Amino acid sequence: MKLYANALLITNDSENRVIQPGCMAVTNGRISYVGKETEGNFPPEVERLDMGGRVLMPGQILGHTHLYSFLARGLAPEGAPQNFVEQLQQMWWRLDRALKLEDVYWSAKGACLEALLSGTTTVIDHHASPSCIEGSLEALAKGIAEIGIRGALAYEITDRNGFEGAQQGIEENLRGMEIAKEMPGFLAARIGLHASFTLSDKTLDAVAEKMPRIGIHIHVAEDWEDVDLSRELHGGGVLQRLGIRGLLDEQSILVHGVHLEEDELHRLAESGAFLVHNPRSNMNNGVGAANLMAFEAAGVNLAMGSDGMGPDPAPEAMAALLLQRHRAGSPSVAWPLIQKIYCEGNPRLATRTFGIPLGKLEAGAAADFIVRDYQPPTPLNQDNWWGHFLFGLASTPVDMVVVAGDTLVSHGQPVNLDAGQVWHECRRRAHDLWARW
Ligand SMILES: [Zn+2]
Repeated sequence: MKLYANALLITNDSENRVIQPGCMAVTNGRISYVGKETEGNFPPEVERLDMGGRVLMPGQILGHTHLYSFLARGLAPEGAPQNFVEQLQQMWWRLDRALKLEDVYWSAKGACLEALLSGTTTVIDHHASPSCIEGSLEALAKGIAEIGIRGALAYEITDRNGFEGAQQGIEENLRGMEIAKEMPGFLAARIGLHASFTLSDKTLDAVAEKMPRIGIHIHVAEDWEDVDLSRELHGGGVLQRLGIRGLLDEQSILVHGVHLEEDELHRLAESGAFLVHNPRSNMNNGVGAANLMAFEAAGVNLAMGSDGMGPDPAPEAMAALLLQRHRAGSPSVAWPLIQKIYCEGNPRLATRTFGIPLGKLEAGAAADFIVRDYQPPTPLNQDNWWGHFLFGLASTPVDMVVVAGDTLVSHGQPVNLDAGQVWHECRRRAHDLWARW
């Protein structure tokens, strides 16, 4: 047993407790005690670590990302994309076609190292590499596992590379499910689907008929193109196409939903699926602003991701707050809602996806946590810690990261590997990738 004592504990538990000075015990990768040190009952051989009053809080959870985009940092799209589809054609679909398995591995390793150093301990990924579909999830899993964080795999099935490419995507997802079984709790799998507008009925039928019901992970109604094409070609909305095939269920992860209609919000809520909001990506692509208050009113499960914009979900929380207020033209909306999405939604999504309690400091939960040397300039308590988080704590460097009880970052540096070597190899791979994309 290890005891992390003399900490400013932000538990994010069901009572939203902030305990100062607080103490947390960890046994076999799980949290076994959270509270005052004087009130706990610990064996004499316990290893006591003094946190020096620093903030100790749950590891961060990234609800949707694309690890493969990591090697594109600094790369500009060809031409000047005028809309969302051109952005895909001139940037992301050029990039993913150029990826080799080595690039997939190094992008996962680099992105997960950056995630780890920013305090993110769980990522839910959505992958595409049409020139090397087979083996790509294994390469991703290797990169994720070598860094030591938790990662959910999905290969995007799509018809944009023909029906044969879609078939290969189905096969790769089946392989991903087997890979995830090798590291339960650390790896998970969902069935990746790109988006309705690049999926034929034939492919969706094949997914519905051939694949086990483990939940899908798909972009929905991100841009009007997705909505309009579904109505024109298939006589209904995007969720209808998924729903009639039995593909909407509570294990599913839907992403964006910017242009979902009111009736579709109710269909989504009834399915129990999660909708992952990615405000910075939506703004960057100029696709619009989801009305999160309408999602909440309909009872939709909401979580937050970055869609590849970075490894840290905290800036998304701030962007989500600002976007909702800007959209509503009011400074009074969305504060409790964004806190709820970040603090309750993301942990629930991760817990459901990985099958173990994540995102909270409470007895029985996985011992995934981070330590920051944040000196509050004003009083900090359970009623206002979220304000501290958005306006200061979230941008304070991360000193220490622990996943499943193992210390992976200490004094801001990875414990088990040389970060400089990883960055060096990522630059080498990016140089090669950029030359041929
Ligand atoms: Zn995405």
